[in-house]
Amino acid sequence: MTQTQYEAVIGLEVHCQLKTRTKMFTGAGNIFGEAPNTQIDPTVLGLPGALPVANAHAVELAVRAAIAVGGEVREHSKFDRKHYFYPDLPKGYQISQYDEPYCIGGTVLAELADGSAKSIELIRIHIEEDAGKLVHQDHGPWSEVDLNRAGVPLIEIVTKPDLRSSAEAYAYLTELRRTIRWVGASDCEMQEGTLRCDANVSVRPLGQERLGTRVEIKNLNSFRNVEAAIEYEIARQVGLCRAGRGAEIVQTTVLWDPDATCTRVMRGKEDAADYRYFPDPDLPPLHLPAARVAEIRAAMPELPRVRQARFVSQYGLEPAVARELTGEITVADYVEELIRLGSKPRLAANWTREEAIRLANESGRPIAEAAPAAILAAVINLIDAGKVARVVAKAELPAILAGGEAPEAYFTARGMIQVQDAGALSAWVAQIIAAEPKVVADIKGGNDKAIGRLVGATMKLSGGKADPAAVKAEIVKQLG
Ligand code: ADP
Ligand code: MG
Repeated sequence: MTQTQYEAVIGLEVHCQLKTRTKMFTGAGNIFGEAPNTQIDPTVLGLPGALPVANAHAVELAVRAAIAVGGEVREHSKFDRKHYFYPDLPKGYQISQYDEPYCIGGTVLAELADGSAKSIELIRIHIEEDAGKLVHQDHGPWSEVDLNRAGVPLIEIVTKPDLRSSAEAYAYLTELRRTIRWVGASDCEMQEGTLRCDANVSVRPLGQERLGTRVEIKNLNSFRNVEAAIEYEIARQVGLCRAGRGAEIVQTTVLWDPDATCTRVMRGKEDAADYRYFPDPDLPPLHLPAARVAEIRAAMPELPRVRQARFVSQYGLEPAVARELTGEITVADYVEELIRLGSKPRLAANWTREEAIRLANESGRPIAEAAPAAILAAVINLIDAGKVARVVAKAELPAILAGGEAPEAYFTARGMIQVQDAGALSAWVAQIIAAEPKVVADIKGGNDKAIGRLVGATMKLSGGKADPAAVKAEIVKQLG
């Protein structure tokens, strides 16, 4: 008898904190890492008489995110109260959007490791406010409440149950993060909590249309944990089904324990009715006329997928390189700035990948500051013109960036400009050939790789001033 095959079904709910200066419904600061309970005011605390006012910048960022994923921004939506009791929620309700979110639909193209891509459909995106945080110190049998996060603007992006594996979930999150960061709506840093993800997981026999019972996993604080938790939950559910205990899968909310690498039940899943949603009487409906949405769209950058495709079609970059260089808009812009300054696209791409990104990471500064494009482009163009050796340029780059001297002047002052003089070149090569009879014999015996040793020796003799390609040609000529 053949064993039943099961298929996993996954839907993700992603929360992104919007990158605003102030909170969603009040002017209290939205600043991460401040002393507890300093980013608060009467509205955050829900004091009587304090009234919320929607943050226009937050709405604009939410619309940017919606446009970036191809969602439909609706002209009319509204804010609702979602009630529950928890110490991190002083008002006793969270302001959210229930049955009329500001955005419906949208798609994210998830690129899998094998290069294939899958379109993941979104159900909706809505705006809401974050809750505070409970801090559990180990010095006493109590918890502390920090309300700095309470009221921070969020968008929640909900997928259809379109995902079929943890790898697809990972690819979806990667593309979603790139897109939302790209348009400046959110930093999407899981460590800082500006991106949070809940995973809904169910399984069903392959071929069955009806969805299985889902478990919602929370507390996923890295993309790797999202993957691991989904893997774990799929295996658990398939195991139960195979053992004839499928009925034991009940709709619950569980927490991922990254140390024990397993899930723990947190609570039975609540229904919408448990939250007693109703429209917030303190807030007018959200009105986003098409003209306003068009204005926001017009101010947005070319989207990362489009830029990635253009890097291949316009500049002839390898698809994987184009993908790497469009991971962050700052990097993509930087490469194009090098090209605008005259660098060949392939050289601009390589120097960005091999040097500029590393310098930015090492210094913790933006790429355009860590390696100003005008300087790197000048260096690249000197190499391309055969005036400076690549190895020399690589070695000197940090000093050039630190010193602020123009690259050509820097290389000239240090005698690093390559000698184009054919007479000098042939004399150096002749000297090396005379000094290395063993290597010469090796080359004549058919070992072509040994030429590299003569090139190296000639370069050294020239003090880095010879052009390696010209040296190699001269060696071949003199030996031939
Ligand atoms: P809630 O808001 O109560 O968590 P939703 O119906 O909005 O529930 O769904 C939340 C997420 O769960 C969505 O991403 C959806 O695609 C996913 N989902 C719904 N049913 C299933 C299921 N049976 N298996 C896997 N994911 C599911
Ligand atoms: Mg949910």
